[in-house]
Amino acid sequence: MMKYISTRGNAPELTFEDVLLTGLATDGGLYVPKEVPQYSLEEIQSWRDLPYTELAHKVIYPFVEGCVDSDALKGMLEDVYNNTNFGHKAIAPLQQLDHNEYVLELFHGPTLAFKDFALQLLGRLLDYVLERRNEKVVIMGATSGDTGSAAIEGTKACRNVDIFILHPNGKVSEVQRRQMTTVEGDNIYNIAIEGNFDQAQDMVKASFGDQSFLRGERKLVAVNSINWARIMAQIVYYFYSSLNLGGPLRPMAYSVPTGNFGDIFAGYMARKMGLPIEQLVIATNTNDVLHRLMSKNQYEVRPLKHTITPSMDIAVSSNFERLLFDLYDRDGSVLAGLMAKMNARDDIISLDEDKLAKARELFDSLAVDEHTTVEVMKEVYAETGYLLDPHTAIGVKAARECRRNPNIPMITLGTAHPVKFEDAVGRAGFDMPELPHHLKDLMEREERLSVLPADLNTVQQFIAENTFRD
Ligand SMILES: *Cc1c(COP(=O)(O)O)cnc(C)c1O
Repeated sequence: MMKYISTRGNAPELTFEDVLLTGLATDGGLYVPKEVPQYSLEEIQSWRDLPYTELAHKVIYPFVEGCVDSDALKGMLEDVYNNTNFGHKAIAPLQQLDHNEYVLELFHGPTLAFKDFALQLLGRLLDYVLERRNEKVVIMGATSGDTGSAAIEGTKACRNVDIFILHPNGKVSEVQRRQMTTVEGDNIYNIAIEGNFDQAQDMVKASFGDQSFLRGERKLVAVNSINWARIMAQIVYYFYSSLNLGGPLRPMAYSVPTGNFGDIFAGYMARKMGLPIEQLVIATNTNDVLHRLMSKNQYEVRPLKHTITPSMDIAVSSNFERLLFDLYDRDGSVLAGLMAKMNARDDIISLDEDKLAKARELFDSLAVDEHTTVEVMKEVYAETGYLLDPHTAIGVKAARECRRNPNIPMITLGTAHPVKFEDAVGRAGFDMPELPHHLKDLMEREERLSVLPADLNTVQQFIAENTFRD
């Protein structure tokens, strides 16, 4: 059975089941697999003809073995990655932009962003584990856009989960709000906070820190990308895209629009498991903390900027700690010291040059401003007639700038559908594309939300009252 350890070396080893139900480790670290399964090229090649669901079983099962029965996992994967739930039969199709240049379309799920790949599965896994334990949990999260809707869609059918998603009232786009507030389910609560995203986020953090308002009967579960199960589900599409383009017999390069470093870390994991990946490009917007670190070896947290790529608007990139853990030879105590310095934020921190050099063997990075993002959307449309969402456009720009070898296929992860990002599409001079089939009547559907003041007590009381209603 796979064991999971904390990146800071001072928390108990956990099973998959416990990691699924936990947020941060008790020492403040993030959980990672103690040993990563490794596959030979022959073995990976033998997966070449598998459809998405079967490939997902090969990749995911070793991470959950002993906690989730093989057939049960198969059932969940079939329930998630099918043509009713995803609007494309291939689940993760490739779109070609140029010779050896591709976009991997990860936006055919229910909420039109890649987060569906993980959160759809996470909901099923939670319910399966909770049913067996005869427990119920509360999901609480704050969102400025994509995570909230994907989490709500992923857990709406869960019998053992109540979900409370906070968003800043009036500060998310109409499509994004409606994707959260029109989902039917009596375990779903949308809370519109009369305040900004940071206030909502602070209330969530405070609630995780002191959960006494739940009277000890329930636990809070985190659905942001610090949850290992999310990373795990995202490893699959690196294998899938590579195998579709002649891997593992030829290497691939990937460019990944990055915020919290979750999606790109999944690519790093795929490589550790044996998939030949030559290069990973970290593509950021002007919230460029990772690009400054990679290019100048200066780690400095700066205030958040709001951009036309809101899903990449972050000040710190929490999953980067998982990469640092490997760079520092999985030494938890060294990493705990480094993270304490990095989190103190009173200084510019540098990594040891040899550690950074190791990272640079695989990773390149680029930060892309709003003007350039919009220009790339226009440019790619002129070249191919294909409209990129602004996040993906940042990925394509970074792919083109950072590419090392034109003979290696370069795949940019297409993280969202452009219809979600009206601002950027308008600025690039395009009409709004049509909503995909399953969302055609989104603008007419009935909304359900509760507007609450930005007051911790009021919010916690609301959650407690609705959690113990039965
Ligand atoms: C969440 C998100 C990202 C960033 O993903 P990370 O795993 O946080 O790096 C990029 N693009 C879109 C559209 C997203 O929703």
